[in-house]
Amino acid sequence: MINFLIVGQGIGGSVLTARLKDFGKSVFVIDKLNPNASSQVAAGLVNPITGRRIVKSWMADTALPIAFDFYKKAEEKFGQRFFHSVDALELVGSVHELNEWTRRADEQDLQHYFSQESFEEASYRPCLKDFKKLMRITQSGWMNMPAYTKAIRESLISESAFQMKCLIIRN
Ligand SMILES: Cc1cc2nc3c(=O)[nH]c(=O)nc-3n(C[C@H](O)[C@H](O)[C@H](O)COP(=O)(O)OP(=O)(O)OC[C@H]3O[C@@H](n4cnc5c(N)ncnc54)[C@H](O)[C@@H]3O)c2cc1C
Repeated sequence: MINFLIVGQGIGGSVLTARLKDFGKSVFVIDKLNPNASSQVAAGLVNPITGRRIVKSWMADTALPIAFDFYKKAEEKFGQRFFHSVDALELVGSVHELNEWTRRADEQDLQHYFSQESFEEASYRPCLKDFKKLMRITQSGWMNMPAYTKAIRESLISESAFQMKCLIIRN
């Protein structure tokens, strides 16, 4: 008996598949394998600080440790690297922006995301557009979503729990 039918196996359907299986549930997954789906083309950047207003990503304090742990376990299970933990560099282009970034970096709820490690900014100048300063943000990285979704799909195929199919819903 199948407990859940999952339609769509991007990052959302893949993580849902893995979590349901962790809880001992059986799933059957269908996907039309659109090569242009977001999870296949996205950069997969993970950054705890976002936007022009320099705010914390939604639920970053709670969600990031869970995500890092989740992908670490997936890497152990599949013997592949999915999440690449690297600091993000934010280009600060003007004095006004620099004041804003410096102010935010001092705030208690954000300061733990800013690296205090010194690094050679000048070495980045030849390959980046002009900047006043680079802000180095920790707990960042990039997720190889095509690799992860492929690993999940292959494990589903090996269990005869995947079908390439386009679901069409008519009223
Ligand atoms: C260019 C780009 C860059 C991005 N960069 C980032 C980034 O750096 N960091 C970040 O956090 N987010 C980024 N995003 C957003 C992120 O990629 C998406 O939020 C995420 O991939 C969505 O995953 P999903 O599983 O919900 O949907 P999708 O990846 O769209 O997966 C949906 C799946 O459903 C299947 N499907 C759809 N309709 C049907 C149907 N009728 N029948 C069967 N199958 C169907 C598709 O084939 C697909 O595999 C980016 C998005 C884009 C487009």
